[in-house]
Order: sequence, then C-alpha cells, then structure tokens
Amino acid sequence: MTITKVDAIPVAYTEPNDCDSTRSLLFCRIETSDGVVGWGEAITQFPEASRSSAVLLEGVADIVIGHDPLDHHLILAELERRMWWYTYGGGIGAFVLSAIDVALWDLRGKILGRSVSELLGGALRSELPVISSSHAFNASLEFEIERHGAYVRDDGYLGIKIGMGKRGESRLGYEFDRDVAFVAGLREAIGPDAILIMDRGQSLEWTVSDAIRRTQAFNDYRLTWMEEPLEPRDVEGFRRLRQQVTCLIGTGEREFTVDGYQDLLASGISDVVGFDPGRAGGITSGLKVIRLVEDANVWFNAHAWSSAVTTAASIALSASTNRCMLFEQKPLANPMQDELITQPFVQHHGAMAVPTGPGLGIEVIESVLEHYRIR
Ligand SMILES: [Mg+2]
Repeated sequence: MTITKVDAIPVAYTEPNDCDSTRSLLFCRIETSDGVVGWGEAITQFPEASRSSAVLLEGVADIVIGHDPLDHHLILAELERRMWWYTYGGGIGAFVLSAIDVALWDLRGKILGRSVSELLGGALRSELPVISSSHAFNASLEFEIERHGAYVRDDGYLGIKIGMGKRGESRLGYEFDRDVAFVAGLREAIGPDAILIMDRGQSLEWTVSDAIRRTQAFNDYRLTWMEEPLEPRDVEGFRRLRQQVTCLIGTGEREFTVDGYQDLLASGISDVVGFDPGRAGGITSGLKVIRLVEDANVWFNAHAWSSAVTTAASIALSASTNRCMLFEQKPLANPMQDELITQPFVQHHGAMAVPTGPGLGIEVIESVLEHYRIR
C-alpha cells in the first residue's frame, strides 16, 4: 500500500463562539492506493495563512506520495529536510507538518484497525472531564454571566473558561472594577465548586502590574488557573507575577515547536501548558511535549478550538496522560464541529467519551468541506 494523493483544503466558516467571526482552517487529506483516507487539520485561523499553508502543502505533496503510509518517521524526516529554511522555529511550515502528521496517525489507525488512543499506548481513561470554553462578546455582562452560568447549571459542563479582550461588545479586560465584578458574578452563577478559568486575549496590553492585580483579584473567586496574563515570551514578567499570585498560571498555546516547549518548561513559568496539535507538530510532537510536561509535573492542556479533527487528536493526546486536568469544548454549535463529522463530539454530565473507532474515530463528510472551501 502506498500514498497516492495528498490534498490541501483551505476553508473559512462562521464561528458563533467568537462573535460570529470568520475563521479559517486548512485540512489535509491523504489517500492510499487501497482507498484509505486520513485527515489532518491546521488551525491557521486567518484566510491568508490557510491559503499560503495550502500552497506549501501542495508543494511538498510529492515527498509524501509514493511512501508506505506507515513510514511515518521517514515521511516527517524527509519533509523536515525539505522545509528546513521555512520551518526553523515554527511558522507557517509548522501548520503543514502538523496537518500531515495528524493525517498519518489517522491513516495508521485505519489501516491497523486501531484507534489513535490505542496506538499511543492505550487511553488512561475512557472519558475526559469537560468544561465550556468560549468568549464573552455581549455588551451586557449580566447576559454573559447568565449564559455561562447556564452552561454549568443546565448543560452539565464542569466549569467555564472565558476569553477576555475578544471580538464583540463585552470589553472585558479593560476596566478593573468591571472585570472583577464580572468574575464575582460568574462564581455566583456557576456555584462554589465549578472550574473557573480566565484567559487574557492577546489584544489586551496588560502591564505586569495589571496582570498581577487582576490575577490576585480574580483569584479571590477561586480561579482554577489564569491563562496568558502576559505575552508568552515575557518570561521575566511571568516570574514577577508568579511571586505575587498563588493560582496556577497557564501559557504555551502559541508555541510552534518542541524546542519552544523545552524552553518554556525550563523557564518554569507555566503550570498549565497549552498545546495545539494543529499548530505545534501534530500528535507526534504532542507526545514529546507530554513527556516534558510529565517530567516537570505540570499540566497538559490540549487546545481544541478549531475543527472536530483537531478535537479528536487533542482528546487522544489528553487521554494518554494523567497530567490532563480537563478538556475544553466550545459550547455553541458550529459548522467545523457539528456539521463536519457524522457523529459530532458531545459532552454528557461534563464527560466526553474518548473515541474508540479506527484512527481518529471520526468520519469526515467531504461535501461539508467543499461547501466551506475557499479558493
Ligand atoms: Mg488561551
């Protein structure tokens, strides 16, 4: 059996969890001579990143084609040899490598008749604890408190994570007293035991003092962790912050490479290490990062804020380690989760089942990708 086809499919879709913004992704479809198809995805987010990644993927397709699909390491090594000039340290080439890697894992599982979880050594648990992960975008913070409270109270999520400084009218992260009142209201709405995570969006330019002040004030309402209160590379800022606050601090989702994670973990600034398989080298790199996280005795938090393909990859990685505290799901239905696959991921009473079907355990509906495809 050999790989006969590698296709790049850039898409754009409306994301209700981000104030109906248009978000872009790149899908990688790999087909074998026996007609087996594997899927990967890169969280490119912007149309220009999707289009340029598609050009790169099409440009390196000839390296992948002709190989036995189980020659995973050999294919990656040849790709890295070719892409050395434009992937050093990450960048758009990392999107391409990530999408190909996940597609090869999916293919391997389908060919061997095993789930990716089984290929990773077997899931440590059959379900993951799930929280709602969304952005606040309504001008009325009372509305947002009620909306997120209902996710826990009525829908069964074990907690909430809320992005601040995002699109829309909420203007969270700009006025200290208003922000603190919001977090106080959230705690009231979700109850004393639910998970509560606040995430600073990159558009908020907090100083170290701003970050310390807010993290301390938010933590009066028992934060599970504070995410990216500062820009990821502000190591000194994170160190100063950590001397002043007691809650866990999360950062890492913007890293592109295992080397980047090595530096991050050596710096000791992250208690909760964000990782996106659609950005930082797929499942293969995810396994390496998990080993680093386990050695450092911190937490692994798989990003899954794009399509069901990345959700499946992130669940498989999360289920392979005891250093995963929770799994994040977007609470509002969206095309790349709920239309893309035949059996969308759903949580019941705050638990999400780890897929057991061959490969990623999902069935992609190709006509949906064609519908959202951009040229
Ligand atoms: Mg985040």
